[in-house]
Amino acid sequence: MQMIKTEKLQEMLTNAAALIVEKEPELTKIDSVIGDGDHGTGMKRGFSAVKNLLIRNRYEYADELCQAVSMELIKTMGGASGVIFGTMFFGGISQMPHEKTVSTAQMAKWLYDGEAAIERRGKAKPGQKTMLDALFPAVCVMKESVEAGKEAAEMFEDAYQAALQGVSASKKLLPRTGRSKNFREEAIGYPDPGAVSTSFLFQAFAETLRNK
Ligand code: ADP
Ligand code: MG
Repeated sequence: MQMIKTEKLQEMLTNAAALIVEKEPELTKIDSVIGDGDHGTGMKRGFSAVKNLLIRNRYEYADELCQAVSMELIKTMGGASGVIFGTMFFGGISQMPHEKTVSTAQMAKWLYDGEAAIERRGKAKPGQKTMLDALFPAVCVMKESVEAGKEAAEMFEDAYQAALQGVSASKKLLPRTGRSKNFREEAIGYPDPGAVSTSFLFQAFAETLRNK
C-alpha cells in the first residue's frame, strides 16, 4: 500500500515513542561516553510525553497528528534534542495533508523537509557526527523508494537499514558540532547518540508496518 491511514501513522509514532523510552539506558550509556550523559533521559522525557499523548488522544488528520507530536516534544524535552527532534517532525509539516490517509510521497517529503530544517536550525551538515548522519541517508532512501513506487512498509524498511548504516558510519567520524565536539579523537569508535535514537525511530516505524 502506498497510502496508509492516519491511524496507522499514529501507531507507528506511538511505537517509536515506546521504543525510545525502553532504550533510555542504552542512549544514556552512549552519551556518557561521548557527550554529557543526558541524551537518554531527555529523549525519554520527551517521548514518554508523546506516548501518553498518543494513548490518550486519537488524531483523525495526519497534519494534526504530526503537529501534536512535534509540539509535545519541543514543550517537554528541552536541550538541543528537544529542538532537533521536534524539528524533525515539524520542519516538513506543510507536506502533511489535512486528510485521514497519507501517501508514501507525503511521508517522504515530510521527513526530507524535516531533515533540511534541522540542518538550517542547527547549522550542521551530515558528516559531523550528529543525528543527521542517520536521518539524511534515511530520508534520501525514502525519496528513492517513492520514485521506485515501493509500498510504505518497504520504504520504511529501507529507511531503517539506511539509518543503521548511518549509525555505523558515524563511529568513524570526528565530532564537529554539539557537546561531543569536546571529545574529539576520543569520540572515534563510538556512534553518535542522536544517530542511534534516530535509528530506533525508524526501527519502530518499519516494525509497525512489517507483516501487515
Ligand atoms: P545536549 O547536546 O543538549 O546535551 P542531547 O545530549 O540530548 O543534547 O543530544 C545530543 C545529540 O544532539 C547529539 O548526539 C547529536 O545527534 C544531536 N545534535 C547536537 N547538535 C546538533 C546539530 N547542530 N544538528 C543536529 N544534531 C545535533
Ligand atoms: Mg547531551
